[in-house]
Parts: sequence; C-alpha cells; structure tokens
Amino acid sequence: MGTDISEFKHILSITESYGARLTAVSKTKPVRDIFTLYQAGQKVFGENYVQELVEKQGVLPEDIQWHFIGHLQTNKVKYIAPFVSMIHSVDDLKLLREIDKQAGKCNRIIDCLLQIHIATEETKFGMDENELIHLLKEVMVHPENYHHIRLCGLMGMATNTDDTILIRREFHTLKALSENVRNKYIAHPQYFTELSMGMSHDYLIALEEGSTLLRIGSLLFGKRDNKQV
Ligand SMILES: *Cc1c(COP(=O)(O)O)cnc(C)c1O
Repeated sequence: MGTDISEFKHILSITESYGARLTAVSKTKPVRDIFTLYQAGQKVFGENYVQELVEKQGVLPEDIQWHFIGHLQTNKVKYIAPFVSMIHSVDDLKLLREIDKQAGKCNRIIDCLLQIHIATEETKFGMDENELIHLLKEVMVHPENYHHIRLCGLMGMATNTDDTILIRREFHTLKALSENVRNKYIAHPQYFTELSMGMSHDYLIALEEGSTLLRIGSLLFGKRDNKQV
C-alpha cells in the first residue's frame, strides 16, 4: 500500500475549511511515498526518529518543512537543529535548553511546542499542568537563555480509544490550558498560537475542538508495521 492521494485531498480540504494545517506523519515510510505526497502539494512532514529524519532530509527536496514529533533525546538535538522547522515534543526544560544551544550554534530560531500529557494511558510522554507552568516561569525569568527558541503552542495526544466523549474532553482540556497559560506566562503571545492535536482516528474531533495542526500518518500512507508505533 502506498500514498493515498485522494484521501490526502479529502483530509486537506476539511483541514483548510477549519483554517488548520496538516503535518503528514511519514515515520517508517519510504522516501518515495513522501515524494509522491510532496508532488501532490504537501510540504510539511513529521518524523519521530532522529536518524530516520536526517537520512530522509538529506535526499528529499529542500523546501520540505520537517517537524519532529517523537520523543527527543537531549543528546540527539544537534543532528536535527540545522534544519528542523518545528519540534512538537518538548517536554522538559533540559531539552528546551539544549534546543536553544544547538539552534544558537546554527544561528537559527527553532519553533517549539510543549507536549502535554492529556491521555489516560500511562505510556504517553508529556508534562502535566504544574510541570508546564514551572517550565514557562523559568523561561520568563531567564529569557536570555532562550533567544534561539520560539514557543509556539502546545501539543497533545488523546487516549487511543473509541470513546469520542473522552477524546473530545481531552482536546478541550488542552485548548483551555493553552489559553490559560498564554495570557499569564507567555512573553510573546503573538507566536503562541498553535495547538498540535488530532491523528488519523480523531482528527475531526480535534478540528472541532480548535486544533491548528493535525498530525496524520496512517490515513495518508497506509498502516504501519505493528511493532513500530
Ligand atoms: C505516529 C504519530 C502520529 C500519526 O498517527 P496516525 O494514527 O498514523 O495518524 C501522530 N502523532 C504522533 C506523536 C505520532 O507518533
């Protein structure tokens, strides 16, 4: 199974009707599938693994905007800092400091989203509300340490369930939290506008709840190998 262009056009038109954007999640998928979607007009792609991202970035067109959406280890930031356009998965201060440091070395400013744990599952990464506020206060108190990152909003993954009421509630919580901290703790609220939420099975609910950035993989590229999440 390869890239599904008609599904892509369908999802894109719904996404645009909400004024949102689409990140095509291409982890584990071959370069040719990404290129097919690129030729159909998609320019934003999301990847979860550093080495895979670096390899793909090296061979695919320059004007692709690469978003990193997976768990990011501090010692690997340096490999993606020269080119990554947004990191969705910042979930602690040490990581944010390292992104700032590596972006500084490249003379860049990297857009960052802060990942929040909204699901009921234990396994998902992300901060709770208190951890988020702690991080934001630190950034406010020491802005000189964060000249090379831009805080652009929040990211979250809903519980993997068919319970649409639960999913809706989790997305709603993320949006409310975003508005809450934006007014109180964000020095440049004009940039803090993104809500990265919504995957293949819950993107419609996410759009209804105010998502600005969907992350969709399997609907566009086909199901992934079970072992690779
Ligand atoms: C894999 C992944 C997605 C895409 O999931 P699909 O169900 O294939 O759409 C979105 N967000 C994150 C963080 C992911 O790891």
